[in-house]
Amino acid sequence: MNSNKNNLENNNNDDKSLNELLKILIDREYLQGAALGITKLVISKGVNTLSEKQKDVFQKFVIKKYKRECLFCKNIIVEIDRALEFGMHTSCVNKFIKYIKLQS
Ligand SMILES: [Zn+2]
Repeated sequence: MNSNKNNLENNNNDDKSLNELLKILIDREYLQGAALGITKLVISKGVNTLSEKQKDVFQKFVIKKYKRECLFCKNIIVEIDRALEFGMHTSCVNKFIKYIKLQS
């Protein structure tokens, strides 16, 4: 990993993580109907190819519902079950616990 991060790199990493997350949502059957179809479209063609209406559905039923940023490192959490339950990456939970222990 390159530690010299700029905005562009962060966006690229986010796109990659987001695509990974979307694939997991489909694999585990979190999505149905229009949200499922639109998400498949985003994976194959990108979010910019969506119509305004499709973007609204995607935001409301996919992004707002399932996209979580890690409370510790602020990157997207791809492991969806963990994201909804703990709000942190597996590796970050361990770092967080260490951090808490250092404080006390
Ligand atoms: Zn994290």
